[in-house]
Amino acid sequence: MSKVILVLSDALRYDTAVEQMGFLGHLLEKKLASLYKIVGELPSMSRPMYETIHTGLPVIEHGVYSNYVVRRSNQPNIFQAVRDAGKTTAAVAYSWFSELYNHAPYDIIEDREVDGEGLLIQHGRFYFDDAYPDSELFATAGMLVRKFDPDYLLIHPMGMDDTGHKYGADSKEYRVHAIRQDVMLANLIPEWLARGYTTLITGDHGMNADKMHGGTTPDMREVPLYIISPDSQGKGDTGEIASHLDIAPTICKLLDLPIPDTMKGTVLV
Ligand SMILES: [Zn+2]
Repeated sequence: MSKVILVLSDALRYDTAVEQMGFLGHLLEKKLASLYKIVGELPSMSRPMYETIHTGLPVIEHGVYSNYVVRRSNQPNIFQAVRDAGKTTAAVAYSWFSELYNHAPYDIIEDREVDGEGLLIQHGRFYFDDAYPDSELFATAGMLVRKFDPDYLLIHPMGMDDTGHKYGADSKEYRVHAIRQDVMLANLIPEWLARGYTTLITGDHGMNADKMHGGTTPDMREVPLYIISPDSQGKGDTGEIASHLDIAPTICKLLDLPIPDTMKGTVLV
């Protein structure tokens, strides 16, 4: 059993991660991590994928069809499974996560910083500005780990998405931002490994050269899934295809929780 951190980097493309994120590449070369290519579920949009990743269900089954469906999740999900098992949840994430698992609609003041045992996200730190700096977000993530020792922590930086919408994926700005995120991770992952966390790093969707996502092509659909384990049993680049649907049951397995029947994806660990 392990504690789990999920870094859900909004709009992190597979090819950009592989080419630009050298610390993660180092962990692969040293067999301290495993890499899968996720062919993302559709549509390649944020809120539908947030729910797909946390429920293990395709969009047509969970009903969060677009970014404009503003309501709480009504399906078994990771946060609920962890809290119901008496374990601790935390997140530093965009306001839509507060809406999906804590409270909808989001109140920018009331919901910004919450701590409560009864909440699905028990220790939540939320932001609503797409330009919220990833550097500040990762610092908050590091604080949540030290202060609350959560069993499940979601870290959701918006920097790749914000940069991609401003400059497109075929831009130096988008590529450089991936390098910056990799450096931020390099400053945190060793501590998390020492604390016994398994860290997963993935994206909800990609980004195209037209500064958008939502379609079906590989640039908008393919994202990485890195799994970094404290037991140093990484497989390197597996060359295997995985699914967004695999993430929720894999996290339940890592946390030694019963996997809800609705989570039908493959357990990757
Ligand atoms: Zn976007």
